[in-house]
Amino acid sequence: MVENVIGTLIDGGMLRQLAGPNELNLTRLALNMSAYVNGVAERHAETSRRLFPGYPVHAITNGVHAPTWTSRTFAELYDRHVPRWRHEPETIIRAECCLTDEQVWDAHRQSKAQLLAEVSGHGVRFDPARPILGFARRMTAYKRPDLLFADLERLRALARRWPFQLVLAGKAHPHDRPGMELIRALHEHLRTLQPDVPGVFLPNYDMRLAKILVAGADVWLNTPQPPLEASGTSGMKAALNGVPSLSVLDGWWVEGCIEGVTGWAIGDGEAHGFNEDATALYDKLEHAVLPAYYGERRAWIAIMKGAISKCGSLFSSHRMMRRYAVDAYLQ
Ligand SMILES: *Cc1c(COP(=O)(O)O)cnc(C)c1O
Repeated sequence: MVENVIGTLIDGGMLRQLAGPNELNLTRLALNMSAYVNGVAERHAETSRRLFPGYPVHAITNGVHAPTWTSRTFAELYDRHVPRWRHEPETIIRAECCLTDEQVWDAHRQSKAQLLAEVSGHGVRFDPARPILGFARRMTAYKRPDLLFADLERLRALARRWPFQLVLAGKAHPHDRPGMELIRALHEHLRTLQPDVPGVFLPNYDMRLAKILVAGADVWLNTPQPPLEASGTSGMKAALNGVPSLSVLDGWWVEGCIEGVTGWAIGDGEAHGFNEDATALYDKLEHAVLPAYYGERRAWIAIMKGAISKCGSLFSSHRMMRRYAVDAYLQ
């Protein structure tokens, strides 16, 4: 098929050498044609080196554009207390000491109110005093949006002891049948859980909705199948808004997670089964995340500040672009 399309433009033997003898492997073609190769997180580079031995795969960890992904209320705080943050996101590291607990809590409260308004637009009432677990991403099998719903009875029991609310969002690729099936299953799980676990699936996930979700949730959930998450970026957006991640140790979170300081890990980063990972998720919710939320406000805000100062400052597109320029483009 390739030879039909490109004709005599490229010699078939040459193409087979560069892209594989029997199938055109675009990754192998790119590896052979590139002067510099990198993964988009340290873990992604390790995984790529295992998949394609013999290629020098460097790592440039992804980042997000801080001014784009910071909510209005936190942007106003940073403007006042770390005024260079828009051009030098590294300075956000100072948020830990320069912002008071009240300022951080109040900025989050306002971002959460905006999410509550979005949710109530879909006919669902949330209690602002209770934590919101947020999960929004492309709906596709390896992201495992159904992991949280592996054991509905355990989830219910958890919510009776430590009440929480769920906001989900995400689109599937139009050719991704299993992805679409997952969306259907999520709607059904949310229905089944009423009224014990208030929850909603917000339609039309896009950057506008993502910005409201990553700032308005109290905990950002990420449960992909390791080692398939190359980086993941929504947790970086959440961190800028003082929202800690509860995530499988894969992609960027291997570098971002300081347990109990910037958020929490699910499992140990190795590939385990679906049920084992679900148990690890429930255990962490039950014994760490929810007790922390319902415990001392001061201690919870310390975690919010940990996410801002230790992840928000580091995982910026400013740092990423500098790394590409210095390590790759200008070599
Ligand atoms: C950030 C973002 C993504 C990517 O999020 P991941 O954490 O990498 O899954 C996808 N879609 C939208 C609309 C986003 O804003």
